[in-house]
Amino acid sequence: MTIWAILPAAGIGRRMGSITPKQYISVCGTPVLVHSIKRLLAVEEIEQLVVVLQEDDTWWSELNFYDPRMSTTWGGDERFNSVLNGLEAILERAEADDWVLVHDAVRPCVTQADIRKLILELSDHGVGGLLATPIVDTVKHAGVDEHVIRTLDRNGLWSALTPQMFRFELLYKALSNAVTKGISVTDEAGAVENLGLKPKIVMGEKSNLKITHEADLIIAESFLSSEGIE
Ligand code: C5P
Repeated sequence: MTIWAILPAAGIGRRMGSITPKQYISVCGTPVLVHSIKRLLAVEEIEQLVVVLQEDDTWWSELNFYDPRMSTTWGGDERFNSVLNGLEAILERAEADDWVLVHDAVRPCVTQADIRKLILELSDHGVGGLLATPIVDTVKHAGVDEHVIRTLDRNGLWSALTPQMFRFELLYKALSNAVTKGISVTDEAGAVENLGLKPKIVMGEKSNLKITHEADLIIAESFLSSEGIE
């Protein structure tokens, strides 16, 4: 049984407002994407990593970053199209019950401990699951006019993180189903839930933030520096 990893890195980062896509912005002197790749490759259980890039990506080749356990493929319009392309890239080599970890390229602070915990806690699970953190803020549901409609009960609410880990065949079926039915899903678990299945939550560290806005770069820099990365 092989463990594969797919790193969707084909987004353009509209919310960041920078010309350089957020995965190529440097944090502690290293591009966010390279941090994320190194974090996954540090886990020896992962045999192959597929990095999914935008077709007109001009930054990747300038990184000059190679690893025998790493390959690349092209992404699609939405994140779930990119992940499906990553699965297609390993279609000929993957077995139905192989595990696939999908990790956002823009989460450079994920710890090896969390990746290992995810693998360990799900190894006997029938469906698979994801790292997540409990929501600590009070959550408001507001209308388009930005007035509160109601306050949600935060008990049982979690923020979904990555990696998310599912069996190859199940994930392929779930994402193909989303594409065929035109359902936009923002994570793998969502696609699997649409098949009527219940992914398991594995408590992850809050430091595993997704670089979305400029301020996130400062937070990521401080997490990485606290680990001695300069
Ligand atoms: O846009 P968002 O922040 O949800 O992106 C999460 C991850 O998905 C990022 O690493 C981004 O590069 C990737 N992505 C992708 N293909 C897309 C859109 C996003 O690989 N079409």
